[in-house]
Amino acid sequence: MGILIKNVLLDNETKDIFIKGNSIEKIGSSIEKNADIAIDGSGKAAIPSLINAHTHSAMNLLRSFADDMVLDEWLNKKIWPVEAKLSREDIYWGAKFACLEMIKSGTTCFNDMYFSMDAVAQAVKESGMRAFLGHAMLDFSDESKRKKEIDAAQKFVDYAKKLNNSRIVPVLTPHSIYTVSREGLVWIKDCAEKNNLAVHIHLSETEKEVNDCVKKTGKRPVEYLESIEFFAPGLNVIAAHGIWLDNNEIKILKKHGVTIVYNPASNMKLGSGVLPFEKLKKAGLNVCLGTDSSASNNSLDMFEEMKFASLLQKSNAGNPVVLPAQECFDMATVNAARAFGLNCGKIKEGTLADLLLVDLNNTKLNPNYNLVSNLVYSATGDCVDTVICDGRVLMHGRKVKGEKEILRKVNEIFLKLKK
Ligand SMILES: [Zn+2]
Repeated sequence: MGILIKNVLLDNETKDIFIKGNSIEKIGSSIEKNADIAIDGSGKAAIPSLINAHTHSAMNLLRSFADDMVLDEWLNKKIWPVEAKLSREDIYWGAKFACLEMIKSGTTCFNDMYFSMDAVAQAVKESGMRAFLGHAMLDFSDESKRKKEIDAAQKFVDYAKKLNNSRIVPVLTPHSIYTVSREGLVWIKDCAEKNNLAVHIHLSETEKEVNDCVKKTGKRPVEYLESIEFFAPGLNVIAAHGIWLDNNEIKILKKHGVTIVYNPASNMKLGSGVLPFEKLKKAGLNVCLGTDSSASNNSLDMFEEMKFASLLQKSNAGNPVVLPAQECFDMATVNAARAFGLNCGKIKEGTLADLLLVDLNNTKLNPNYNLVSNLVYSATGDCVDTVICDGRVLMHGRKVKGEKEILRKVNEIFLKLKK
């Protein structure tokens, strides 16, 4: 028993796909199998589902709360004060809301950094999505705060491990080099090594971050991290942004196998700068794609993000050849799967059943000379009809369970925060 998708377009051919358990068992023509769920794939194309490699899901509650401000002021005057008012239950509903939005726009896996992560884990568990979750650690070089933050990070790792759910993976998430002390960063590195956890950090997002770091340490951010031996051998570091990198820093990141997450919409909106994609590509770094939060994007739609990703690079380089559609699509699929050690990102026998059916009758996908071009340059999340993650149908015919209740709860929280 399993899921049988009949007559779906896959790599330009009409195929059947049979899913058993959480993986794709067979792809072929005229597969005859008993299935619990039969899906008519005609008029649809099967594509790998998208992976959002950097976000703060619960911040979906803060969409349109504060826009058009500089990062420093935006964080200090607006975001951090309102975040102090969020309860664990608010964060649960914020994450539920983000999961709903991601499913509706074809994302099945995300890499998240926030607070009350046990609430986020609960939301992910119920949504059926896959997620890499970590407690956002910020100690501002205050020793007692550091102790509390270390405790919270450790507690969440223990909690997530106990869930024993292959879709929910704990990671360690120091917010950034400017919000976490050297001691805090060293603790993260030691704990990640000991527990075999990935590390997710904001890095070199603004020019100010670099200038402040040089002033304080005499080194640029990546050099500083290397000097404190943050990049331990074999440690999987996933760095969001990576905009303000010089050639030596790129070399260091390559040497340590660091993955960079490109967040074009957030970077453009906050005026942070442009990812030096061509340099990173030349150096052989793995680059994935993320939306950042709905407070700085303001959407979690990875289809839009792919378009922004390509257009920003082309515009900045004055060259339409850079970052073509397929490379953009790879950032949101295979590159991310590689970064997180997931056996997905391509639809093949034996891979995880994480896939989408897009509606080929949607105007945005017509005419269909080139599906990948249409997906990157024309599609939006509403082209997605069906979402399957880990062998479970999370959306079919654009319907997701519990949608109305989630929206009702989010608007209750909105009325509370608005006061
Ligand atoms: Zn972020």
